[in-house]
Amino acid sequence: MRREATVKASLAAALAGLVLWGGLPLYRHRHFGVPVVKGPGVTAVLKLSEFSKGLEGTAADTTVFVLQGKEPGGRALVMGNTHASEPEGMLTALIFIEHAVVEKGTLYVIPFFNASAGRNTRPGDGYPLYFDVPTEWGSKRFRFGNRDASPLDQWPDPDVTVHYPTKQLLSYIDARNTNRTWPGRPGGLPMERVTFGAMELIRREKVDLAIDIHGAETMFPVTNCIVAPEKSVRVATMAALTVKAAEGFESHVEPSPPRFHGLSHREIGDHSDALPFLLEAPIPFLDQPTGPKTVEFFLDGKDPFLLSLSKKKKLFVPYDETGWSLEKRVGQHCSTTLEIFRQFSRRNADRALVVKGVPRYAEILENGVGHYYADPSKAAPGTVLRH
Ligand SMILES: [Zn+2]
Repeated sequence: MRREATVKASLAAALAGLVLWGGLPLYRHRHFGVPVVKGPGVTAVLKLSEFSKGLEGTAADTTVFVLQGKEPGGRALVMGNTHASEPEGMLTALIFIEHAVVEKGTLYVIPFFNASAGRNTRPGDGYPLYFDVPTEWGSKRFRFGNRDASPLDQWPDPDVTVHYPTKQLLSYIDARNTNRTWPGRPGGLPMERVTFGAMELIRREKVDLAIDIHGAETMFPVTNCIVAPEKSVRVATMAALTVKAAEGFESHVEPSPPRFHGLSHREIGDHSDALPFLLEAPIPFLDQPTGPKTVEFFLDGKDPFLLSLSKKKKLFVPYDETGWSLEKRVGQHCSTTLEIFRQFSRRNADRALVVKGVPRYAEILENGVGHYYADPSKAAPGTVLRH
């Protein structure tokens, strides 16, 4: 009898140990704070819940950085981490927060748009929990997130997602995908409250341009492009042609399908006066037939399997031994965003947006992405937030 109790107790202890051993890294990941250093251009820091009360006190609430220029002008919203497994948008947004100085107009930057997805993981796919970007002062650590919000913050999933307000049927998982829940609603599921908050910000603050920054597989046809609905096509086309001619990289324009609902590039334009744009740059790391998902591969984008697929013409972008580095991806996003501002401003002098201090493609290729992140331990008091 006594022996049986001892066996049971040791089995229970072993099980508890296993749960702790497996769960602690995930707990630490969820609670890890990425330092965000506010640059000289930041004039206010808001929460998205100020535009969507239902987010207050939840893990889906997120920070909005405001960079207001001295002169009035146009207004733009830049979003990163709509899909937190495509962190290039967040890395680009942080460069804007640290370096942009707005001379005319106002910039709103949401680096961790799906804050819950940024605290979710993809360990089943062999993804790392974190990635470190090398800088001159050491390396800056970021959480590697998932495409969808954490089930800890929104659960259970429906059998089928019914898009609001069109009633279009979407996959069950899209209920946690903030690029399927636009335009959202105030009392909806948490992810609908996130997109509703951004819609309200866009409407109340009279935002002219909304730029949602993503990344996609090299084997996915919608990659290396600017997705734009009809109302944004002129500005997107001019931006694409200009970056190609002046900076030597490709980013073609893809039309936003009018009947595919829930996406930022569709709903923002249909439910506000803003012109939406969704930017994609290729992330080889996201492709399926690759070697191990290491941090090094995420940073340099080099993979022998993709290289052989490229020779068989199976990829939608040119791909060679040089891979597709983080520098190229973030550099493209910085330049394309700045070019969209410039092209819009040329046509709308009274709503011009003039942003200085943000590096462009060639500078980022030359200096590296980490060069643009300041050491948070040396930053002035009160300028560092953890997200
Ligand atoms: Zn995406």
